[in-house]
Amino acid sequence: MMRRLAVASVASATAAVLAAALVVPPAQAYVRAASPPGTTTSLAEAPAGHVPAGKVPVAEGYGGAVSTVDLDATRAGLGVLRRGGNAVDAAVAAAATLGVTEPFSAGIGGGGFFVYYDARSGEVRTIDGRETAPAAATEELFIDPESGGPLPFEQARVSGLSVGVPGTPATWQRALDEWGTWSLPQALAPATKVAAEGFVVDETFRSQVAENSDIFDDFTSTSELYLPGGAPPAAGSRFSNPDLARTYALLAKQGVGALYDGPLGAEIARTVQQPPVAPDTDRVVRPGAMTAADLAAYDAPLRAPTHVDYAGLDVYGMGPPSSGGSTVGEALNILESQDLSADDRTAALHAYVEASALAFADRNRYVGDADQVDVPLDELLSQGFAEERACQIDPDAVLEKPVAPGVPDGQYAGCGEEAPGPTGGQREGLSTTHLTVSDRWGNVVAYTLTIEATGGSGIAVPDRGFLLNNELTDFNFAPTQGDAPDPNLPGPGKRPRSSMSPTIVLDDGRPLLALGSPGGATIITTVLQTLVNRLDLGMNLPDAVAAPRVSSRNTASQAEPAFLASPEGEALVAKGHKFAEIPEIGAETALEFGRHGFVQAVAEPTRRGGGSAMVVRPGPDR
Ligand code: GLU
Repeated sequence: MMRRLAVASVASATAAVLAAALVVPPAQAYVRAASPPGTTTSLAEAPAGHVPAGKVPVAEGYGGAVSTVDLDATRAGLGVLRRGGNAVDAAVAAAATLGVTEPFSAGIGGGGFFVYYDARSGEVRTIDGRETAPAAATEELFIDPESGGPLPFEQARVSGLSVGVPGTPATWQRALDEWGTWSLPQALAPATKVAAEGFVVDETFRSQVAENSDIFDDFTSTSELYLPGGAPPAAGSRFSNPDLARTYALLAKQGVGALYDGPLGAEIARTVQQPPVAPDTDRVVRPGAMTAADLAAYDAPLRAPTHVDYAGLDVYGMGPPSSGGSTVGEALNILESQDLSADDRTAALHAYVEASALAFADRNRYVGDADQVDVPLDELLSQGFAEERACQIDPDAVLEKPVAPGVPDGQYAGCGEEAPGPTGGQREGLSTTHLTVSDRWGNVVAYTLTIEATGGSGIAVPDRGFLLNNELTDFNFAPTQGDAPDPNLPGPGKRPRSSMSPTIVLDDGRPLLALGSPGGATIITTVLQTLVNRLDLGMNLPDAVAAPRVSSRNTASQAEPAFLASPEGEALVAKGHKFAEIPEIGAETALEFGRHGFVQAVAEPTRRGGGSAMVVRPGPDR
């Protein structure tokens, strides 16, 4: 069924939003946070404490835009756009800066997924920069040889076992080679400067060190780097990372081969095999098996994007090994047959919650690294399968969870069969980071990158200034699908399933939206809910991002306090939905495109301390 979408004009931000965007005061001064713009329909409040001057969550204008969680990173990207670089160049520069200022979420020790709209060809392309397991990994990677059972998560996380071969440097080089106009040394220069000269520590940085300090303290390399004087750097102090500046300079000079086939790679393999454990710790740190050959074998391949038609719009996302594109896409296909009306938000949110539970059941049963397991992607994204799944949704009753996966076999009639087997759960976190960039030529980047947990494995490469990921804990430690095969068990060279969902929406072949978020498995629901808010419920993009979130993932359901206190939240709970309260879900960034090159850049007003949106030439929609 085709519905008319409630896409209001992009130029619907308030005057306060625009005023904030037009004034970009100098760095480092601190002002009291102004009322967050774009929150007219949300219960969001201004960020606690101070925010740096110039850090605003919404900006509108022309010539390209950057939205990240961080002021320095957004400035780095904007500087590239102003100096003639394109969106790809700016995305790499911003990501490299996040490696300095948001090092507990992302960096060259991790991986990610880069989704790109190329204005010249009108095509959406993607790069898979996911980490790989070493060749020596087996299905038992996270099975404790003594007990025979899965390792506790924390033991697996803080170990060499969990470290995958980093994909981020290869992603940057691949993106620049394919679509960029700047060289890697040029794109790394802004971040190298921030690392060398330092930046002002914000509360997010301080608290992320504090939350990890027991772990960081157990590695000599990490405590030297992030616990100077034995304590987390104070908010408001200046923090520099000269080791990382030198590492970026090495990559600039020798290329990413320094990491994949050179001295830096040898140091990474050594660190994984012999983590630099502090002499006074009693933490058991299991070594990993990564070798220089594993690094040399790494590739960040181009992959076909996922695609669904959602009420006439083309929604592109990231395919396997991410489950982002397939799960967002399947849920949208399911929602296409539902009545989502802004007049009855409770009914719309009921459909959204049920559709995402159904799509998660299928994700858990069928999605893994498609290079190693058979993923029925076309069927998962087919309208026939979605319609079969959708007929389980009852507008008047709540589905009993967990729901069983469906059977995406191409034979769709009635309500279909259910596949056997329970559905595995998935952790959620607040690590990872997403950035969205556009340029004056109309190119668009949606890029999500991560080191998995906040702080990754906790292990920094000695004297190199960056943390190693714990991405391999995204594998299931033990089979989750009963008698059915589990697509996400560890294996040699395998990429763990991700939830990262960098997404680009085209309207009649032209970009309409670009978005993404951190948050583990909640990434999928954050992107999905924002799309529903924007496309179906008539919110403008700042409101769609700020609105209180609810995340239904079949084996777990959570909601923010503001959602539970909203009339819709209360109505859904009264209907029988069960949501555990969680302080925050996600930290999104997004762009919306209007006519004649107009762009609205949006970041979180409050979550994770609020993000930073900027445009090259601020101004109102003409
Ligand atoms: N490692 C997670 C994934 O790829 C993201 C981590 C997080 O956002 O907490 O899905």
